[in-house]
Amino acid sequence: MCGIVGYIGGQQAAPLLLEGLTRLEHRGYDSAGVAVLGTGLRIAKKAGRVRDLSDDLPKRFAGKAGIGHTRWATHGPANDVNAHPHTDAKGDVAVVHNGIIDNAGLLRKQLTDDGVDLASETDTEVLAHLIARSDADTLEGRVADALALIDGTYGIAVLHADFPDRIVVARNGSPLIIGVGEKEMHVASDLGALVRYTTTVAHLADGEMATLTAGGFTTYRQDLTSTNKTATLIDVDPAAYDAGEHDSFMHKEMLEQPTAAASVLRGRLDERFGTAHLGGLNMDARETRAIRRVKILGCGSAYYVGQMGASLLEELARIPADAEPASEFRYRNPIIEADTLYVAVSQSGETIDTLLAVQEIRRKGGRVIGLVNVVGSAIARECDGGIYLHAGPEVAVASTKALTNMFLGFALLALQLGRVRDLSIADGKRLIAGLNRLPDQIAEILGQEDQLAETATRLAGAESLFFIGRVRGFPVAREGAQKFKEISYRHAEAYQTSELKHGPLALISEEVPTVAVVPADELTDRNLGALHEIAARRGPLVVVTHADVDLGELGTGPAMIARIDVPRNEPELDPILLTIPLQVLAYHAALRLGHDIDKPRNLAKSVTVE
Ligand code: GLU
Repeated sequence: MCGIVGYIGGQQAAPLLLEGLTRLEHRGYDSAGVAVLGTGLRIAKKAGRVRDLSDDLPKRFAGKAGIGHTRWATHGPANDVNAHPHTDAKGDVAVVHNGIIDNAGLLRKQLTDDGVDLASETDTEVLAHLIARSDADTLEGRVADALALIDGTYGIAVLHADFPDRIVVARNGSPLIIGVGEKEMHVASDLGALVRYTTTVAHLADGEMATLTAGGFTTYRQDLTSTNKTATLIDVDPAAYDAGEHDSFMHKEMLEQPTAAASVLRGRLDERFGTAHLGGLNMDARETRAIRRVKILGCGSAYYVGQMGASLLEELARIPADAEPASEFRYRNPIIEADTLYVAVSQSGETIDTLLAVQEIRRKGGRVIGLVNVVGSAIARECDGGIYLHAGPEVAVASTKALTNMFLGFALLALQLGRVRDLSIADGKRLIAGLNRLPDQIAEILGQEDQLAETATRLAGAESLFFIGRVRGFPVAREGAQKFKEISYRHAEAYQTSELKHGPLALISEEVPTVAVVPADELTDRNLGALHEIAARRGPLVVVTHADVDLGELGTGPAMIARIDVPRNEPELDPILLTIPLQVLAYHAALRLGHDIDKPRNLAKSVTVE
């Protein structure tokens, strides 16, 4: 959440910073700002998007060192003053910050009592004043002094007019990556802002600081003792960070799902023994067998896919499993059991609520594995083992391909756990065959985009919708509703189909459509019964189902908006196929409504604040 960039070298910083910020905008987009050091420190910042800032940038804005920020406000509304960078009273120090300073209230009061005029309502501003008040000889010492006074999470970058040859950065809980160029250095909160310039990078660890000069970088702890970090060359394709011919990253990433799904499965299926090989779990067969329970933790879509994962684990491995929002888990003093396997799910691997849950479990001696997309991210590093999702970079706030690969990660885990228990080799092989069919089946659903777009247009007019499903289908409905509401801004509520008549049926009318998940399974008849109850109240219906489900009179009835058939796989794997059309519906409804699909209002990618 929130983007940070920095540059120091032989080129003018401002254009590079603005370009970098454009690539980070998905991480926060309520305001943006840059500071450059040329002859003195200059700041430009503005509420709105990066392009508003570019349009308004003063003509003479020269400097070969600079820092920039796109904000996702936590303290104080999005306006020009609260936008970063923040400065001290003299305008010598500029700070950009990602995260939250927990004791900002107290520090703000102490500073005001000391006669300091605070310009903004942010927590961040205190840092600029604290750095200015330190009497250390070096910028590194001044920043470390200021950090010693604050509690909270941060990724920061600091410029100081008296130290024009350097940028000092520090990390605690919010990612920062240093990029090494030819006689120039970059820093950013996300690889996406760096890859056009360099793929030689160093990730800062929590508690680590760094100094960037045009010639190189040094890393050290907050007591200024060296950590001697060096940069490594990473293997990324810069094109993966471009939307290409697509109107949005969400569209691109949705269509990448067949390839992404094949990647997460590659090399992990053992046809001969009907099992999966997940080397990264760091558990042998005996340890795997000893697991008595699985607890899955994630936030938002990662939580819903965690519910799908729990079903997979219960069905295939017959281990009791459930999912819980990571954001709630750690606040209820959870009981951590030695024979429970904890699974943390996060696309970015930086989701702070999930990361803190992981830390709480590990502090209490629990074993945690991560289902994470971003290699080397905080959660990946904190866990005892894990399954990388190999979805490639995901930029859109609304997760599609990472979510699909999370499901497949759970399927692999369930297969491996199942096969050291009661899952037969025949069932293992049946599932492997199913997994191998999935990429093509996903492509087949995506091939129906035009028809789905038409259905989405009919749904986009509704102010309020229901998404319903049962058992395996319920997390599908929850994820469908989540996707719909986050990008179309329509009220979309997920419900168990079985619970409809116990309350929400009161809301069904001609104005309130229902998207029903009705797979061909042992519950089909029950589900159809509920659909009749909706139709009898003139509630419009979209039914996501399998071709062999006979909808009878409903199919031709006046309530029916559309029937969406998805290909059948093995029943355990069907949920992910039922999820794909719901992504396409949400996307086309949002497109129809003219929303900025990759930057839904009030949201941001990688939620790194609590
Ligand atoms: N807490 C800071 C603010 O509200 C930084 C938020 C962010 O990470 O963008 O300005």
